[in-house]
Amino acid sequence: MNGFVANIQRFCIHDGPGIRTTVFFQGCPLNCWWCHNVEFIPIDGQTTREYSVDSLLEEILKDRVFFETSEGGVTFSGGEPLTQPHFLNKVLKACRKRNIHTAIDTSGYAQRNIMLEIASQANLLLFDLKLFSDKDHIKYTGVSNKIILDNLIQLDEQNYPMRIRIPLIPGISDQVENIQGIIELIQSLKNTHPVDILPYHQMAEEKYKRLEIPYKIKGARQKKHELQKVRNMFKKHNITVNI
Ligand code: SF4
Repeated sequence: MNGFVANIQRFCIHDGPGIRTTVFFQGCPLNCWWCHNVEFIPIDGQTTREYSVDSLLEEILKDRVFFETSEGGVTFSGGEPLTQPHFLNKVLKACRKRNIHTAIDTSGYAQRNIMLEIASQANLLLFDLKLFSDKDHIKYTGVSNKIILDNLIQLDEQNYPMRIRIPLIPGISDQVENIQGIIELIQSLKNTHPVDILPYHQMAEEKYKRLEIPYKIKGARQKKHELQKVRNMFKKHNITVNI
């Protein structure tokens, strides 16, 4: 069984603990207006490479010394890594056998049984929460958030280690009603999960231009005080956030 990988990035420090190798899977069922990895969305990406479980593991193992010295590991991102669940599952099992820490960076959009099976094999989930309103979620990502919120609740119920990540998009996900909805959801969970806010940066704008794809939020900029406002909302509810 082979998997389709768009890119492998080494020495990453924002995708989980320690120094990490991030493997970007090709394919994503969402189509977020702000996607920084827009070329990873189609399942048949032009720069995609096909790997067997062993050949991908070989790439990951090249960085083993950095994982060991920094308590790092490998993060599977994308695209959406759960679009290739069988391959991902096999790679996770192979990493587990070799004591390599694994994290899954996911939109949460996957069938529940697949999500739970993958969660049971990984060490950590980096679970993205974008928009609380289903109507907005459909508008800005192309899919409903019902399955995502349901997965989050199930994962929490079953005590899987998670970090919740909120991409803060100006005029979209940084709105007061959205943040308030997300705070209420986080507060309703059984466990306390660290919350990471991912500030917006406009680097993707150039990429869209190069790829000749219209960038729907062209010109959007994040003001410092907006970021601060969001941080304060979490603080008011005694939720510590990392930015
Ligand atoms: S979930 Fe992530 S990879 Fe998929 S479209 Fe949205 S931002 Fe891009």
